[in-house]
Amino acid sequence: MNRFSYARPDDLAGAVAHAAQPSARIIAGGTNLIDLMKYNVERPVRLIDITRLPGLNAIEPTESGSLRIGALVTNGTVAYDDRVVARYPLLASAILAGASPQLRNAATTGGNLLQRTRCYYFYDSGTACNKREPGSGCPAIGGVNRIHAILGTSEHCIATHPSDMCVSLAALAATVHVTGPNGERAIPFADFHRLPGDHPERDTTLEDGEIVTAVELPPDDFSAHFSYLKLRDRLSYAFALVSVAAALDLEGNTIRTARIALGGVAHKPWRLRAAEDALSGRPAISESFARAAEHLLSGAKGFGHNDFKIGLARQAIVRALEQATAGTPQSQTDKRIR
Ligand code: SF4
Repeated sequence: MNRFSYARPDDLAGAVAHAAQPSARIIAGGTNLIDLMKYNVERPVRLIDITRLPGLNAIEPTESGSLRIGALVTNGTVAYDDRVVARYPLLASAILAGASPQLRNAATTGGNLLQRTRCYYFYDSGTACNKREPGSGCPAIGGVNRIHAILGTSEHCIATHPSDMCVSLAALAATVHVTGPNGERAIPFADFHRLPGDHPERDTTLEDGEIVTAVELPPDDFSAHFSYLKLRDRLSYAFALVSVAAALDLEGNTIRTARIALGGVAHKPWRLRAAEDALSGRPAISESFARAAEHLLSGAKGFGHNDFKIGLARQAIVRALEQATAGTPQSQTDKRIR
């Protein structure tokens, strides 16, 4: 591990000033960054510990009826918060589908948004990787790519975003609040993470020095009809091969509003508004859902080992929407530890 300096600022302005310096990295729960430093993937010159910053560790309703989750609130706290469970069970379910209780008790809301891909080559500093060393190449293309993306890829990177929580936040159309050298701004969740394009080293649209301060959930109510369906190699403590966050607003058996986001298939949570809009006014039946799946997966492309994901995603989308319709979401309660 390389040598680095450590700072623990007392206020947000101080943290932003530190974070804007070259080769600075923000640390909170450290559940991903510390691993990456041990693997010599991340080599920060400065670590900025934001765990003592005031005002970022609360879940609070806003005047507009939304719910604001501070960036330092742990994933475990969010998943078991009564307001989240009642109003946003899709979020609670997605969080409980990920990691382990120990990790969820340390990992923060802001950190979850910023965790990096689990591509094998990215973690192996003895190999090339455009995300780790821009311009060095992408051995996953033509290599071992069973866990890799089928949508939104580029010739430079086919990595996936690993978060479960973020897939549900995409479906719920959350907003990410950030503060940086140029002040505060709010980023729609769909615009927060990037596709790899020519710059796979950049995971998000954050500017230098910007710090995530909160995630805001709009007041839409999808609490009756939702499902977070996660398909993976083992029941727990594994990243998604394919996951689906599905939320429906129904009038009888007719769909008023549909939200669908996919995990494990792209460099960011994959959401396609046109596929959701096409479901409005349609009956909530398997045939409608199968058409939505085709729409969502149009342009999907496998790279050999991950070809199976296209068919798996097609079936998972239909299954998750059926579960949401029936009000019988995939259970994550086997992970519920108090
Ligand atoms: Fe690196 Fe992306 Fe290629 Fe993986 S898929 S080796 S992260 S460039």
